[in-house]
Amino acid sequence: MARADVKEIVLDRDQPGQPHKGKVFAAIHAHLDDVPLYAGGLCAKLIAEGYTGYLIRTTNDEKCGGHTTAENILSNEQEHFKVGEALGFKEVFHFYYQNHELNNISTLDLRARLIFLYRFLKVDTIVTFNPWGHGEENPDHSVTGRAAEEAAWMSGMDVDYPEHAEAGILPHPVKERYYFYARPGQTFNRVVDISTHIAKKIESIVECRSQGGGNYGSLLRAKLAAQGKRLAILGNDDRTADREYVRHFMLDDEREAGAPYGMNYAERYYYIDQRTPELSKVDDYVNRHAIPL
Ligand SMILES: [Zn+2]
Repeated sequence: MARADVKEIVLDRDQPGQPHKGKVFAAIHAHLDDVPLYAGGLCAKLIAEGYTGYLIRTTNDEKCGGHTTAENILSNEQEHFKVGEALGFKEVFHFYYQNHELNNISTLDLRARLIFLYRFLKVDTIVTFNPWGHGEENPDHSVTGRAAEEAAWMSGMDVDYPEHAEAGILPHPVKERYYFYARPGQTFNRVVDISTHIAKKIESIVECRSQGGGNYGSLLRAKLAAQGKRLAILGNDDRTADREYVRHFMLDDEREAGAPYGMNYAERYYYIDQRTPELSKVDDYVNRHAIPL
């Protein structure tokens, strides 16, 4: 694919050993099911390859779960801890902004909270929504992506929130970014092979029961049983039914993304690497032409 904003598609396959040991990433999402559905495979892969991961959820998910607002907040919170555990995150954070209302909060407040965490946790890499991804109709997604990106840009600057340094929380630059492919047609320049991490992705999706389809398998199993029927692929217990439902019916995008490259399952990302700053035109000229006095 030749696009000016994409250049070439890089294929990211499993790497031997732990090449990322010592590095830290934060996955920043708005809702319980965003990271499991969009990036569960990548997060499991990064952690398997040595990264320490932290999971940050910006909203309280109060609209999702089918119960009262308070009950929804509680069930999503409890399931978020389980999602973090399923994927191997070291810790999970919840910001609890009101669900679906993120475009009416102080984005400066959200950005400042993220900058504090990036510095405190020494985040090298973020995984989040594409801040300029088209087709996004959920304001929680776009606001979260923009704040996560702005915070990544500012986290390394000592002029922003200098009082952090007084408290011992030093500036820390975020050098790598993976932006989700969350809606059809969004830009991507990297295809990540998640085939060996698919079981963890499925485990994280089945923990999403208040939203995200994690319990669809057991619900279908119960519905069919009431009609005196069963599906062999759903197995003989609810947990198996949930996992197999996800595997058979909810991973079409992952199969489609991997197929052209011979991968069983893949996730797509727009990836940005700022680890090696380009030499400025002036520095380059000085290097080549400076002579002794
Ligand atoms: Zn969402």
